[in-house]
Amino acid sequence: MGLRKILTDRDPALHKVCRPVEKFDWRLRKLLDDMTDTLTQANGVGLAAPQVGILRRVVVVDTGDGILELVNPTILQTDGEQTGAEGCLSIPGKYGLVKRPYYAKVRAQDREGQWFEAEGTELIARCFCHELDHLDGIVYTEVMERFLTEEELMGDDEE
Ligand code: ZN
Repeated sequence: MGLRKILTDRDPALHKVCRPVEKFDWRLRKLLDDMTDTLTQANGVGLAAPQVGILRRVVVVDTGDGILELVNPTILQTDGEQTGAEGCLSIPGKYGLVKRPYYAKVRAQDREGQWFEAEGTELIARCFCHELDHLDGIVYTEVMERFLTEEELMGDDEE
């Protein structure tokens, strides 16, 4: 297991624009493996490289269908909207109300450098948008409507 420390949003690394990955080498593979271990250990749905202090355009997500590795991802298409609770491993214990597209399609490279597309609705679309924002130094608290109260979180509301 290669666990990396997850930085909080007080860390400057969370607020910087990340550079593209250019070398698909052992360093990238190690970073992806460590990010997967770290995400799994934290029981999260997504982790972006700046959250572990690496300012490169790398994301891992796990929305229930196994790990998806996204290198140099961009959003190709979005549709609709959804407003719901969103959290972040870098902002522990808090949730915000965030409006995101209902559907999103991304284009990314895998660890070998091969381009592919991935798409999804609801949690997947939310996760893609949240993680890709991290690569541009944006955390959800900058785009949320407001923090959710403890009563709202306990209430298990639709929103
Ligand atoms: Zn996050």
